[in-house]
Amino acid sequence: MDFDLSYILNHLGEDREDYLNSVAPPIFQTAMFASPTVEAMRLMIQNEQHQPFYTRGNNPTTNILRQKMAALEGTEDALVFASGSAAIAAAVMANVQAGEHIVAVQKPYSWTKKLLSTLLPRFGVEVTYIDGTEPANYEKAIQPNTKILFLESPNSWTYEQQDLEVVGKIAKAHNLVSIIDNSYATPLFQQPAKYGIDIMTHSATKYIAGHSDTVAGVLCASKEMTDKIFRGEFMTLGGIISPFNAWLLLRGLRTLEVRLERVSQTTAKVIEFLENHPRIEKIWYPYHAQNPQFELAQKQMKQGAGMFTIAIKAQDIAEVEAVCNALKRFLLAVSWGAYESLAFPACTLYGSPNYPSPDLGWNWVRICIGLEAPEVLIADFQQALAH
Ligand SMILES: *Cc1c(COP(=O)(O)O)cnc(C)c1O
Repeated sequence: MDFDLSYILNHLGEDREDYLNSVAPPIFQTAMFASPTVEAMRLMIQNEQHQPFYTRGNNPTTNILRQKMAALEGTEDALVFASGSAAIAAAVMANVQAGEHIVAVQKPYSWTKKLLSTLLPRFGVEVTYIDGTEPANYEKAIQPNTKILFLESPNSWTYEQQDLEVVGKIAKAHNLVSIIDNSYATPLFQQPAKYGIDIMTHSATKYIAGHSDTVAGVLCASKEMTDKIFRGEFMTLGGIISPFNAWLLLRGLRTLEVRLERVSQTTAKVIEFLENHPRIEKIWYPYHAQNPQFELAQKQMKQGAGMFTIAIKAQDIAEVEAVCNALKRFLLAVSWGAYESLAFPACTLYGSPNYPSPDLGWNWVRICIGLEAPEVLIADFQQALAH
C-alpha cells in the first residue's frame, strides 16, 4: 500500500478541483456522458472500463470508490456491484467454464453455496467442498480440470479460517485462480493479496457501508483480472451499484477505521463477560484464546471484528427464543457490520424453503456488536440470559 490509511479513506481518488472543490464528492446521477466530437467518443469507448461513458460500465462517483477499495486491498483495481452476491458470482463465473472444477471451503456464505452447488452445475461446472482449516485438503481435492480455489476466511457462524499463505502458494503452484470472501475482516484487518490470493470479494453491505442502509458488493484484483471481468460478467450481467449507493459507501469508508476499532474493543469486553456466564455453552470467535485457530488468526488477521456466535445452554428452542426475545439493545435481524448490535438465532432458518438444511445448531445465536457502550450490551445480556 503506497498511501497511508487516512489518505485513502479521506482523499484518494477525489479530484476535487474537477468538481468546484466540493469537499464531499458529487453524486453523478446520470446514465451517460456526452462527447464533444466523434473522435473523442471513439476514445471514450476504447477506454470504457476506466472512463465515464455509460454508467453501467463507469461512473465518476463509483470510480472514487474503486480506487479506494483497490488501495485498501493492495490490488491494481476494483469493481463495484449492487450486492456482495453479485460480486462473488462475477468473480467465480469469469474464471470457470463447462467441464471445469472448483475447490471450495465447506461452509461458505449461503448464497455462495447456492451458486456453487445449484447454479454452476447446470452449466457443467463441478465443485468439491473441503475442510479448509487443513491446507493438505486442497492438494487432495485438486483435479486436472480444477480452475478455482474458493475461500472464505473466516466464514460466518463458525469462523473457520484458511491459512492464506499456504493456500496462496498451492494456487500458484497449480496455476489456479484463488478467490476469497474477505467480508468479515475487511481489508483493514486482513489483506489476502499479500499472500498471493488473486480476487478479494466483499459484501460492502456490512462494514464498508456500515449503516444498514445500502446493499453493495466489491471485488478487488489485478488490472488484467478486473478488465477481463469488466468485459465479461460485469457488463453482461449488469449488477452494478447506483451512483447514490456508491456515494453512501464512500461516506461509510470515512469512519471505517474508527468504527472497526470501537467494535473490536467492545466485542472483546462482551466476550469476556459471556465466556464466564453459566448459560453460555460455547463461543465461536476468531480472536478468542480458545479458538483452535487463534494462532492463525493472529498471523493473518490484525484484529477480531464484531461478529461471533454463542451456543446457549437451554432445554429447547423455546428457551433460546425467550432469551433472544428478552434482548432490548440487540435488534433481531440478519446482516451485520453496522452501528447497531444484532442477534440472529439459527432456529429462525429452520423450515425455510430458502435455506434447506442450514447445518447450524438449534441453540446457536449469531451476535454482531455495534457502536453502543460495552456496559450497555453486557447489562442487556445479563438480564436476557436470566430468562
Ligand atoms: C452478507 C454476506 C454476503 C452477501 O452479500 P450481500 O451484500 O448481502 O449480497 C457474502 N458473504 C458474506 C460473508 C456475507 O456476510
